[in-house]
Amino acid sequence: MTTTTDLDRACDLVASASRIAGFTGAGISAESGVPTFRDSDDALWRKYDPTVIAHIQNFRRDPTLYWEFFREARYPVMSRAHPNDGHRALVDMEAAGRLPWLITQNIDGLHQAAGSSNVIELHGNTRRILCLECGAKHGWDEVYAMLEHTAVPPCKVCEGAIKPDVVFFGEGLPAPAMRQAARAVADCDLFLAVGSSLVVYPAAMMPLEAKVRGARLIIVNMTPTPHDGHADVVLRQPAGQVLPMLAEVASGQR
Ligand code: NAD
Repeated sequence: MTTTTDLDRACDLVASASRIAGFTGAGISAESGVPTFRDSDDALWRKYDPTVIAHIQNFRRDPTLYWEFFREARYPVMSRAHPNDGHRALVDMEAAGRLPWLITQNIDGLHQAAGSSNVIELHGNTRRILCLECGAKHGWDEVYAMLEHTAVPPCKVCEGAIKPDVVFFGEGLPAPAMRQAARAVADCDLFLAVGSSLVVYPAAMMPLEAKVRGARLIIVNMTPTPHDGHADVVLRQPAGQVLPMLAEVASGQR
């Protein structure tokens, strides 16, 4: 449970920080209607186990199940989702010059849709779809339309295999994003981790690395994480309620 004292301490940390690194996981998009992995018993994840359908070896062998998941679940959910107050609060913190980096594990593009321009995508973005052979870009709606006629959409240029520009299980994280995130971790004086269970590595190391390098750490998450004991403050409240308050502090309105 979050107490008034916890909130006050979080506000004090934000007020005294000059370089905040935001770090988000699936929880920040839960209030936009995008289901998280670990605290949801949604039938979706039972039908489409992400560690199976989004494993690169399985996808290369036969992408049929992945594209079925895209058509039945991913596209309908994510094309309806809009940024919420949590996403917008991070835009306000950036606009106030207090949040130069926003590291995200999310692949939904909602930070950019809200207006953040400082997003470091660790796991890619499901709305970008690329040909594995020739690199041609395909539109998200265009691929969905193709799925009305075919189980596995081919590249419109070379008929090769196409894949969302997302880090699948069995793939490494993009080096440029990792370098930018490492800079944020090293240079921030406050690390604000939001809506992540902090169990997916290497991303989950980042809050601890920032802390070891001298930054303060705030964790906003509805359920306990393995790193709560290292945090200066843990707020167990919905991101869409907490972040607007912290953004008001960052913008000097509170
Ligand atoms: P996770 O599902 O492991 O954990 C989400 C956490 O968010 C949970 O601990 C939960 O308690 C918390 N949470 C739920 N609602 C919240 C709210 N309103 N406010 C604050 N916290 C809330 O997510 P993860 O740590 O990001 O790791 C999952 C992996 O799955 C990531 O790699 C991510 O790429 C991927 N993923 C992404 C999306 C997305 O893009 N929206 C959705 C599902 C999974």
